[in-house]
Amino acid sequence: MPEAVIALGSNLGDRQENLRAAVRALAALPQTAVLACSAVYETVPVDCAPGDGDYLNAAVRLETAMPPALLLGACLGIEAALGRERPYRNAPRTLDLDLILYEGFAQNDPWLTVPHPRAAERAFVLAPLRDLYPDGAAPGFPLPDLPADGVRRTDLKLR
Ligand code: AMP
Repeated sequence: MPEAVIALGSNLGDRQENLRAAVRALAALPQTAVLACSAVYETVPVDCAPGDGDYLNAAVRLETAMPPALLLGACLGIEAALGRERPYRNAPRTLDLDLILYEGFAQNDPWLTVPHPRAAERAFVLAPLRDLYPDGAAPGFPLPDLPADGVRRTDLKLR
């Protein structure tokens, strides 16, 4: 089965529980297994309004037979179930799930762009990805070296 990576973020409500609930929901998807979870990072908001709360960010590595579009749809459903609202761009959120990569698949479409177009510029995505691929060799997405500014590793666990 192909590998996929989902990045998780939360800066509203019980942030750790939001991430943990998301991992449980991902693990319960059909024909899908969670292979590995990153550490949890506390990160300074990027491109957000002054005063927005810090994020918890993490990433999970999946093995899945769900096609990419179905997997994205499932992620949007999990976000909605965890109370995600979109009042304006980059608003604080209970849960954000981004499909970062899907082995053997690339697409550039507003509905689904994979690999994720901004992942390589975001330390809060790259730090968890480094946990999942310590050698930097994520499928179809070689990890750039980026200073981990604004990113602090915590002792929190995803599961
Ligand atoms: P956001 O509000 O930032 O969570 O963006 C979600 C929107 O981005 C959804 O409507 C998706 O269709 C779209 N999108 C495009 N590519 C991706 C991706 N790789 N992962 C997650 N959402 C994506």
